[in-house]
Amino acid sequence: GTTGGPALPRYVRVNTLKTSVSEVITYFTRKGYTYLGKARSIEEIGEFAQKRGKRFLQDLHIPDLLVFPSDTDFHKDSLYTAGHLILQDKASCLPALLLSPPVGAHVIDACAAPGNKTSHLAAILQNKGKVFAFDLDTKRLATMSTLLLRAGVTCQELANQDFLTINSSDPKYQKVHHILLDPSCSGSGMPDRMRTLDEEAESKQNERLEALSAFQSRALSHALSFPSVQNVVYSTCSVHQQENEDVVKNILEQHTDFRLVKALPSWPVRGLNTFPGSDCCLRASLSETLTNGFFVALFQRKNKDCKSSN
Ligand code: SAM
Repeated sequence: GTTGGPALPRYVRVNTLKTSVSEVITYFTRKGYTYLGKARSIEEIGEFAQKRGKRFLQDLHIPDLLVFPSDTDFHKDSLYTAGHLILQDKASCLPALLLSPPVGAHVIDACAAPGNKTSHLAAILQNKGKVFAFDLDTKRLATMSTLLLRAGVTCQELANQDFLTINSSDPKYQKVHHILLDPSCSGSGMPDRMRTLDEEAESKQNERLEALSAFQSRALSHALSFPSVQNVVYSTCSVHQQENEDVVKNILEQHTDFRLVKALPSWPVRGLNTFPGSDCCLRASLSETLTNGFFVALFQRKNKDCKSSN
């Protein structure tokens, strides 16, 4: 870019409901692209992203993710319009990957629209089982229906409902062991939101962050209240501690039957050191991981009959 900072690579998630990584590699190779293999480091991706030309890599953390130079545009590519490729930032592929429900599982996607993570979950489930997907916003749900149709997702049940009002003891959700919670957030990790604020704007922002943080805590608490739930992923595209570590810390204090699990141990950037175990959480950023700003925490129910690991 013009600022001289790192450029965000063009990440492309292969939709394994419609195709495979090797088929997509063959497709691009036939179109004159050079496949450079699997990336060995984030630095390698960084150097690669700055270059131009028809070349691509496989990501080092996310197997179904391919990496192209920053200036590559796939919106008109026939594989994209046919739903074989999902244009999704690398960080936003982490929540479904970390939840990784087994094939056939029942999963809740609590704040789902426009559905990139739902479609990723469906791919992991191989369209078997069920994703109960909720969203409050009618328009965003309509967009989501189109996206899921194009992606060949068939295991979803969409509902235009407030997740906070979903009855967790409804027998319908009895087999839900996995919940993905990606609630509304400030979006401060998105590239166009990173501005510096004057004092007035800053105090307004603090009020907004408090309101968001209160909602996020309620939603996370509600997710952990589902009687059969074992694994919950909490994620935001915010860089603010109030929406991330503070929410997690607060909820761990309230729900002592849950603990954090170290999310993707090989990931280099961890949660801010604000409570014991905060390094179980992961953070992502343009400068450190060549992604949007992002946060993920992975909760697991403590089982009586199961020894706690370490
Ligand atoms: N997970 C989505 C994806 O990967 O495409 C992005 C979700 S976006 C960060 C947050 C969503 O939460 C918005 O679509 C918003 O309408 C929805 N939302 C906000 N409050 C909600 C609530 N109480 N219940 C359900 N959805 C809610």
